[in-house]
Amino acid sequence: MLTLCNLLEADDRKISFIKKGFFDNDEHNYRRLLMGLVETTKSQEIFEKSLEVIAGGVNSPVRAFIGLGVDPLIAEKGEGDTIWDAEGKSYIDYCMSWGAMLLGHAPPSVVMKAKSRMEKGSSFGIATEIEEQLAREIVTLVPSIEKLRFVSSGTEATMTAVRVARGYTGRPYIVKFNGNYHGHADPFLIRAGSAVSQISHESSSQGVPNDIVKHTISLPYNDVEKVRELFCDPEYGSQIAAVIVEPIAANMGVVPATKEFLKVLREETDRMGTVLIFDEVISGFRVGLEGAQGQYGIFPDMTCLGKIIGGGFPAAAFGGKKEIMDTLAPTGGVFQAGTLSGNPVAMAAGLETLDLAQQEGFYELIADKTKLITEPLQMALKDRDLDACLQETVGMFTLFWGVRSVEKFEDLQELDHDRFKTFFRYLLNEGVYFSPSPYEACFVSAVHTEDHLIKTRDLIIDFIRQV
Ligand SMILES: *Cc1c(COP(=O)(O)O)cnc(C)c1O
Repeated sequence: MLTLCNLLEADDRKISFIKKGFFDNDEHNYRRLLMGLVETTKSQEIFEKSLEVIAGGVNSPVRAFIGLGVDPLIAEKGEGDTIWDAEGKSYIDYCMSWGAMLLGHAPPSVVMKAKSRMEKGSSFGIATEIEEQLAREIVTLVPSIEKLRFVSSGTEATMTAVRVARGYTGRPYIVKFNGNYHGHADPFLIRAGSAVSQISHESSSQGVPNDIVKHTISLPYNDVEKVRELFCDPEYGSQIAAVIVEPIAANMGVVPATKEFLKVLREETDRMGTVLIFDEVISGFRVGLEGAQGQYGIFPDMTCLGKIIGGGFPAAAFGGKKEIMDTLAPTGGVFQAGTLSGNPVAMAAGLETLDLAQQEGFYELIADKTKLITEPLQMALKDRDLDACLQETVGMFTLFWGVRSVEKFEDLQELDHDRFKTFFRYLLNEGVYFSPSPYEACFVSAVHTEDHLIKTRDLIIDFIRQV
């Protein structure tokens, strides 16, 4: 069958078409014209219809599969480690809703708990007991969090955490690191900087005036010297409210921080009275019950959580020292609110997820499952001596094509997008769904089966041998 993608493949105009991401009206019409000439799949039909009523056809840009030369997947259902698309084709899933599905898709006990909670009413706009239960569980498991507040997305968590830090310290500046992702709130959308002397005040998104990011400083990740230099700077050093960091970066592929880097962040922020925020929206409950902070033994003043804590529903949290958290209204003067914050259905799903994650040997199991794929791949890469590398931690990994090691975003300049595209499409064709961007992590859940892990491993080894 001639599919739309085959046809587009053969067409020069495809390149600009894909690049522009269907946003351009003429190209959109061009695509529609082609639709009349070829047989379309149900997924393509759904995406076409979505393009008419949803901006770009998707509710988060990476879902559009821009630059991959395949139509976006439309998920129909998921169970365990597998998802099915609108045609009924199955895929072993390593995106797992960007890591949120720690227990795989539709884990029976989570479904049951969410269902029975929903039957009692799904939102009240007043407090419920289950919010206290999940909060207590998190506060008990993550000792650096003494108090927290629930919100509905990681974006809200990080956005509010820096607001609290600014309210608490009365200072204007925040520091982040190039290639770390903290959601899409205005203050984080800044172009990468490279040194204190060249601090950029240019936003990286239309719609965010440069004035809005003028109090955000973005530095290279894992660069101890740049951090020390900034904190010694007479203009900025004493004016920094917060440093926010992904202790295990997972939004430029998996790039763990060096211990030295986190240690220096802790030292310098302590020295200057700056709030240190760990954005553990991905790493929290992924690498262990205490997140990356437990793994490194370095503890922040505030932590942001998301993804896993909602058990597949929209829930996130930020928390930390009592003294800092009490600056929030109604106790303090920093405003934050949310109609669906602490939503009881999301709390029920999150609570059951964390209960299961506390079973004896849970994280050892995830680590073993991860290694079942990654250890043989590391060896295969070594054998072939390719310009590629695999970086990993418990439950997540990234296979980088075109680069031999990644410590910071700047190391990704030679990233081989074409190779990734070939690799991604090869796996997809074989029924394996990897996260659809070379800048992302892949996730191993507690329920990935040995058969599926081995199948995936062998497919990738074959690919590596043929490169
Ligand atoms: C996913 C993510 C966010 C944003 O969370 P959303 O729920 O998508 O808004 C923030 N920080 C990190 C580290 C993330 O991985």
